[in-house]
Amino acid sequence: MTDTLPMRSDHCGTLRADDIGRRVALCGWVARRREHGEHLAFVDLRDHTGIVQCVVDGSADVRSEYVVRIVGTVRARLEGTENANLATGQVELGECEVEILNVAEPPPFQLDDRVGVDEMVRLAHRYIDLRTERMQRNLRLRAKVNGALRRAMDDQGFVEVETPMLIASTPEGARDFVVPSRLSPGQFYALPQSPQLFKQLCMVGGVDRYYQIARCLRDEDLRADRQFEFMQLDAEASFASQEEVLAFITVAISAAVEAVTGEHVADVPRITWLEAQERFGSDKPDTRFGMELVELTELFADTGFNAFKAACVKAIRVPGGGDATRSRLDDLTDKAKRWGAKGLVWMRVKEGGELDSPVAKFLSEDELAGLVSATDAEAGDLLLIVADERPKVWHVLGLLRLELGRPPVSEGGLEFLWVVDFPLFEALGDDGRPIPAHHPFTMPHADDVHLLDADDPAELLNVRSQSYDLVLNGWELGSGSVRIHRSDIQSRMFGLLGISEEEAQAKFGFLLDAFRFGAPPHAGFAFGIDRLVALLAGEENIREVIAFPKTQSGSDPLTHAPTPIDARHLDELGLRLLPPKKAD
Ligand code: ASP
Repeated sequence: MTDTLPMRSDHCGTLRADDIGRRVALCGWVARRREHGEHLAFVDLRDHTGIVQCVVDGSADVRSEYVVRIVGTVRARLEGTENANLATGQVELGECEVEILNVAEPPPFQLDDRVGVDEMVRLAHRYIDLRTERMQRNLRLRAKVNGALRRAMDDQGFVEVETPMLIASTPEGARDFVVPSRLSPGQFYALPQSPQLFKQLCMVGGVDRYYQIARCLRDEDLRADRQFEFMQLDAEASFASQEEVLAFITVAISAAVEAVTGEHVADVPRITWLEAQERFGSDKPDTRFGMELVELTELFADTGFNAFKAACVKAIRVPGGGDATRSRLDDLTDKAKRWGAKGLVWMRVKEGGELDSPVAKFLSEDELAGLVSATDAEAGDLLLIVADERPKVWHVLGLLRLELGRPPVSEGGLEFLWVVDFPLFEALGDDGRPIPAHHPFTMPHADDVHLLDADDPAELLNVRSQSYDLVLNGWELGSGSVRIHRSDIQSRMFGLLGISEEEAQAKFGFLLDAFRFGAPPHAGFAFGIDRLVALLAGEENIREVIAFPKTQSGSDPLTHAPTPIDARHLDELGLRLLPPKKAD
């Protein structure tokens, strides 16, 4: 090349009418080539900023995905050939000199966002998939979020501390990934499910305010919102109350949202766990839409209808749902039963408030009228009613509400919500012992500590904890708590959970020991960055915002991980493999 321009003077997607007349050098990949008469070809050149049309000599041997440098002059497109769908659609590059920097085999799939390509093929060639506008946008959005989170935490006086990956087990309740130790055969490291214990040790170590954009690993089944490895903004603060944690995490979340959307998240509403369950049938309510659960227990307190003689009766009203077919209603009933209900009562609301339902004849006039008024039912609506134990009613109606009302991920805006006052214990296990809802280092609510000594173990389920979740559009983004920093309360907690002193010492001895050397009161939080970024990007699946994710079955079609290791390596680690288990 004889030009005096740098390798690259501009980016493809940035050229506009203002640039007309400029001689520029662009570098990128050939997105598309179309012949134009006998002697010319249109080449769409792509880089991470977008695409621009270049008119090149028809004899240039440039094909799809070739890497080229094109020097040309920006000019206006001929009238009538402008492309309003393209940011650079007013202009094109003429008088082009093309330099081929590298040839490329034909790509295994078309890199056009509008063409549905099988995900396995995309992941097997992720390096090509990453060139698409969608992936470029998502990766850059993610980087913006990470940058904003870092700045927000730095500005609030948090210190970034890196904690180890090869550790002893962390009590987050999932299965650990383990790594065999070569130097101590027969011994294993666990990969961190979270930096939980280390961040607490940092507090004992006087770090005062810690954060980390931390990689966490949990060996759980993969889902749309779950990968084996995920990133979280992990934070902990000394001498901090729940209020302060909620405040500094809100600042971080706002900064991330603002960096992406330009909009400020002024305040995040707050709801107690109990209210969330009563109103939405979920501890991670999607508040983008209504269809709240309506309490009917009182209304049916003296009912003659056996199915409604239950500890709890609630309904949801599906606006305009009255045109549901019988087979759809049967399908909903089946689902409700699969989710644990004994049955599902449906009622179609007719003109004048009349209720069309197989069970209407078993209800009194007053009950029918009460139902219409309690649910604000209008003609054309559908009422769905479940009667059972209260938690079961929440669960089933909560899922029906989502099934019937949930907007797509990219609609309805961003609805953040703090859910506070979680119960300390989730349930009583078969052995009568309480099962912790968070982890065993969560501080009970100050007003409920006395209940820990109650004679009736069922009372334990009424103990609230100082733990809180952050929810976005019905996705659990993260959770945190005020921690137990006093060894007497911690011992009491272990006692309740049936964890013996020896077991506690074996599992978390280092933390308990540390607590004997001056642990400040502390509290913290962590939220998933993959989920936040997916929702900000309007993606249904977090795989779309992760550069190199695993498939649903936990494998990587690109590197083929997991792979076998050779016999010598196994020997070195002191491991012998059993024959694979036969599938049932
Ligand atoms: N370690 C917890 C988690 O990963 C978060 C926290 O309690 O700070 O869910």
